[in-house]
Amino acid sequence: MLEAAVLLGGAVLLWVLCSLWRASLRSRCGGLLPGRAGALLLIAHPDDECMFFAPAIIGLLREQRPLSVLCCSTGNYYNQGEIRRKELIQSCAALGIPSSNVTLIDHRELPDNPRVQWNSHVLSSLILDHMQDKNIDLVITFDEGGVSGHSNHISLYNTIRSLHCARRLPEGCSVLVLESVNIFRKYLSVLDLPISWFCPHDVLFILSRAQYKQATEAMACHQSQLLWFRHMYVLFSRYMMINSLNFLSCDQEGPETKVKDS
Ligand SMILES: [Zn+2]
Repeated sequence: MLEAAVLLGGAVLLWVLCSLWRASLRSRCGGLLPGRAGALLLIAHPDDECMFFAPAIIGLLREQRPLSVLCCSTGNYYNQGEIRRKELIQSCAALGIPSSNVTLIDHRELPDNPRVQWNSHVLSSLILDHMQDKNIDLVITFDEGGVSGHSNHISLYNTIRSLHCARRLPEGCSVLVLESVNIFRKYLSVLDLPISWFCPHDVLFILSRAQYKQATEAMACHQSQLLWFRHMYVLFSRYMMINSLNFLSCDQEGPETKVKDS
């Protein structure tokens, strides 16, 4: 009797998940994103684009939105900067972004280092120059948690927030930040779908099976990073198939009081 109840419960849960997945594939995001010019994905390291943002990238490209990537370091922590530069280009190509839309910054004030908060003045100037070149009216980047708590990720949030709240971004430009979830949800894979669906968010991107395969193919381009735990990440991280994002608001608590060096 108990066994039958468990089986029935499992079947109902599976049915709910499949229904939510199908519904989300039909409805998410269409026409909700502001602006019609270029979107900019702002990341800190080669591999951020597919480890964290693959659902947003694939979703934006499906909406025929011009998308460029600005990667603010070469990921040179283990002296693999040159290798990782090539891997970024290959990974972006696998996701559908041509190399002409990928820019990688190599600046001594912006080292790949989890203990370094990047120089906000240098970063601001590089971001604003790039946005002007590419006619950007939507920026997508990390939130105050940086997904993994990496200080370089959080530096991007702090800088873009300062620019946004000081009205230094181009007029009409919106900023979407990727929601950092707790470690339990982070590794729930597709089982996080109902939680993501019901928790408040402004934009939700969810990948189909074929699109998830595309994201894993992009991840495979980062051969230098594919240690055993990265394979586990690809299997279990919800970020490989789900991105929930929120519009950045200047009413939120500022980074001065909220962000700690991790
Ligand atoms: Zn990173």
